[in-house]
Amino acid sequence: MLRDEQQHLMDAVDAYRQHILDAEQFLWQHPETGYREWQSSAYMQEAFTDLGYQLVMAGDIPGFYTDLDTGRPGPRLLILAELDALACPTHPEAVDGKAHACGHHAQCAALLGVAAALRQPGALDRLSGSIRLMVVPAEELIEIAWRETLRQQGTIRYYGGKVEFMRRGYLDGVDLAFMLHTTSDSKSDFGCNAGGNGCLAKRALYHGTAAHAGGSPHEGVNALYAVQTGMQAVNALRETFRDEDHIRVHPIITAGGASVNIIPADVRLESYVRGATLACIREANAKVNRALAAGAAALGAKVTLVDRPGYAPLNNDPQLMAVAKSCLEDLAGPERVSFTDRWSTGSTDMGDLSCVMPVMHGYAAGASGMGHGDNYRISDPEKACVQSAKGQVLLAVALLENDANRARTVLAEAKPPYAGAAAYLEAIEKLSCDLEAVAYDGDGTVRLQLQAPSR
Ligand SMILES: [Zn+2]
Ligand SMILES: [Zn+2]
Repeated sequence: MLRDEQQHLMDAVDAYRQHILDAEQFLWQHPETGYREWQSSAYMQEAFTDLGYQLVMAGDIPGFYTDLDTGRPGPRLLILAELDALACPTHPEAVDGKAHACGHHAQCAALLGVAAALRQPGALDRLSGSIRLMVVPAEELIEIAWRETLRQQGTIRYYGGKVEFMRRGYLDGVDLAFMLHTTSDSKSDFGCNAGGNGCLAKRALYHGTAAHAGGSPHEGVNALYAVQTGMQAVNALRETFRDEDHIRVHPIITAGGASVNIIPADVRLESYVRGATLACIREANAKVNRALAAGAAALGAKVTLVDRPGYAPLNNDPQLMAVAKSCLEDLAGPERVSFTDRWSTGSTDMGDLSCVMPVMHGYAAGASGMGHGDNYRISDPEKACVQSAKGQVLLAVALLENDANRARTVLAEAKPPYAGAAAYLEAIEKLSCDLEAVAYDGDGTVRLQLQAPSR
């Protein structure tokens, strides 16, 4: 049973229901990939502004945040929603090859419901501290080559929107954070796992020698075969990965040759190396780099290996999960809430936040189909958006009511692995490297350079 003041906030979400559903539809119909979500961001900006919020815009990238201060001292709680879609050209409702095959648009619609409820007269009366609502770009770690261009231009430093927001200081002063991601798992209405894999983002640029594929292939160096040989070696390494490290390596070839009658000279690979800890990611990555370099050496090709920090492993805070579980059970019933100690092998940049503060990255049902698949869609917007908003409002209230004592308890017991954003960002910089990985000395010696030169 919800108390009167909780029910009042639930009614406020219901009163805003049509706006929430309209947002889900608009954003679904305007899918944009990371750091390009300008239309989606503008839609959200307008909705927030209509609700009376003052926004702090990221400006040169999409996304923004806004603060609600209760006027009483206490922790600052962050609630997030993600803007970006996937490149998923086989999705029947793809627009320009893009589709919300991860359902982030439903998170945005739900956050509008949260924003509307918290603007109700009296909504903050019983709360302490403050709430930051944040709309972030670029959760899906894709289009790595393009993001590297943005990085080299100095627009971003990190491929993931939340890490980039952290670098920009938009998380300064935030004490704890949560978000609910959409899921197509319909066995429950709300869920949460113990955590999930982190990842490193990799590109490998193979350089061969172009030659006539029919007339003079002996003059060429086939960069496509070099990539294939490197990938074969990576596959042969898989049995060396320990089960408990949850290593995942899944390369794609983003350029495989220019003309069928030319020996491919410029072939490019993108991959992640995922794992359960930064240490085991680093260890697996060293093997993967050796294998990819050896593939180039086998063919007499060259390869440039470009590694960048991806996302840190996610460790959800157990205390925060316990508070959330109880709120969500009040809303949906205990049988419709499934909090587990399972480890997810996907990655999210909520993991980066979990390195510096207690976080919870949970799930709200309402989608159907396969996550990242071409049959994914929101089949129950009531659950994915409206009920998700209600769950988030209840959790925010539970954390910040009674002098924010639940949030304070979470903070007192939390042990994030890094002291703060600066220490964390310094640590992940060590994952970056740019290696010319194969050198031919001319006397028959082939050298593989596999470690980043020390800085
Ligand atoms: Zn996704
Ligand atoms: Zn997602």
